[in-house]
Amino acid sequence: MSHRLHSENTKQRLFISMLIIILSILFISVPVTLKSYRSYQQSDVVLTEISVLRHVADLANEISRERGPANKVMSSTPDELSANLKELTLFRERVDLQIEHTMQLLNSAGFAAQANALTTDLKPALAKGRAAVDAYAAQPYAQRSSAQLDQAIQAMFRAWDEVYEVLKHVMMQSEGKKTMLSESYSLILVLADLRDQAGRLASTIMAAVTFKEPIPELNLAYSLQSQRQSYYLWDLINSIQPEQHKTPEYLGLHQQVKQKYLDQGVPIVSQLIEESLHARPYSLSGTELTLNIVDKFTTVVNLQKYLLDYSVWLAQQERHAAWQQFILTLSVSIISLLAALFTMVYARFKVFKPLIEARDLILELSEAQPQTATAPDSSPTSLFAALKQLQTRLAERDLLEFQLRNMANTDTLTGVSNRLALEEYIQYLNQNPDKLHQTGLIIIDIDDFKEVNDQYGHIVGDRVIQGIAEVLKHSVRSSDLIVRYGGDEFLILIEQIDLDGALSIAEKLRQEISQNVLTLPGLDTPLNISVSAGVAADAGSWMELFGRADHSLFKAKEKGRNRVESML
Ligand code: GH3
Ligand code: MG
Repeated sequence: MSHRLHSENTKQRLFISMLIIILSILFISVPVTLKSYRSYQQSDVVLTEISVLRHVADLANEISRERGPANKVMSSTPDELSANLKELTLFRERVDLQIEHTMQLLNSAGFAAQANALTTDLKPALAKGRAAVDAYAAQPYAQRSSAQLDQAIQAMFRAWDEVYEVLKHVMMQSEGKKTMLSESYSLILVLADLRDQAGRLASTIMAAVTFKEPIPELNLAYSLQSQRQSYYLWDLINSIQPEQHKTPEYLGLHQQVKQKYLDQGVPIVSQLIEESLHARPYSLSGTELTLNIVDKFTTVVNLQKYLLDYSVWLAQQERHAAWQQFILTLSVSIISLLAALFTMVYARFKVFKPLIEARDLILELSEAQPQTATAPDSSPTSLFAALKQLQTRLAERDLLEFQLRNMANTDTLTGVSNRLALEEYIQYLNQNPDKLHQTGLIIIDIDDFKEVNDQYGHIVGDRVIQGIAEVLKHSVRSSDLIVRYGGDEFLILIEQIDLDGALSIAEKLRQEISQNVLTLPGLDTPLNISVSAGVAADAGSWMELFGRADHSLFKAKEKGRNRVESML
């Protein structure tokens, strides 16, 4: 009963320790996996934000660009007007669609307030600007004034200001501004500004140039400010853009802005300002100014487009890397868990279960011994205790076997070895011829033993045989083998001895027996017993050794008994 309980305990302990390992793995891997999943989610949010920012920046661009066709309409000659109006209407429709689209995007990306700002702030501002443009264009030419034109242009600027506000707010609320993509966010903002400054540069002097009037002080100030702002922003872009992201394509586009816009576009405006200050006639009309300067802005638009695309690409790379990191962490966690589970199952069925079974088997084996049944309380419970018990049982069995062997090899009457033991020893000697050469053999036979039996009976005869055996046992070494060979015949096998040595031992035995007077209880007269001995040594085989000793015994009997003989 207690064994079964112990097996259950072992299983339970194994289960608990594996449970601890599995829980530890979960404890480590779950937070790591969740963290890597969260950073993947964050990178996904960043990508969405960058895309939203790109759309808002695009919208800001389009609203900036709407000033182009609007200016064209306002500076049109009567012949050009209807075609330019058509172009403006189409452009406005496109911008309106883009506003709607951007609103949807902002809403779906969680920028509801900003989407709302497009309705509450941008749309009215744009409607106001457009109304001012339309009102100006509807005026008969004679009634138009440069102040009215400038007002319409300024009204359009305010529409752009509203989108720029939205752009700024989206950026401030976004997650990504805390990440390594923060530079991209700043760049989007700065580039939108640069694009707008480029537009303002010419727009602020447009009214004066169209009406061939001197440029008002305030407009001069605005235009110069836009110039300075453009140089400043151009430099800022380069300092924000991290060195490792300054690709050859970026460097080329950045340089293009300098060459086309700053070195060629700005001087066109500067020249017109110069002409205004020196009261010279303008070298360009309003329409010519628009046409000349518009293509210079494209370099700014190209750089902006490149940086926006690059930011989206960077965000995609980040998201991909985060996804890979997540998959890697998840895989490692799953593999660790599976490995732990496998180890648990494997250890249970391939290691612990066989061990428990082996222990039960050992217990069963050791309990088969009668002794265990008497002590059920002290049943061992561990494998090693079971082994110890089996070891004890085996030792007991060895002792028993030894005793049984001894019993089988011992003569019951005298306690010396019997012929079975002799057979074994002969086999051993025949297998070791070197030993045989150094072995001496004495055959001792009681003289006229029949007479003892006849005169005193067999019981006395048995006592005589026992008495002789006692003398032999006390007179030879324990390593020598004493065998009761026949009725009154003993063999003594002595190792490491030559013939002389064996002869002297035989002689000593003969004297001791013949001098000792054997007194037996119940007998009045002491018995005089003598023995004859035949001795041999240094033979080639057992048969030879035995034959020589036997022949010598025969010789001793023939020569009158109570004597020792050998063949030499
Ligand atoms: P010898 O001097 O020629 O040896 O004469 P012996 O009378 O001793 O003749 P032998 O050795 O041939 O006779 C042995 C006798 O020993 C025969 C048998 O009756 C007797 N004997 C044999 N085994 C036992 C035994 O176990 N107990 C007794 N009491 N007598 C035995
Ligand atoms: Mg005899």
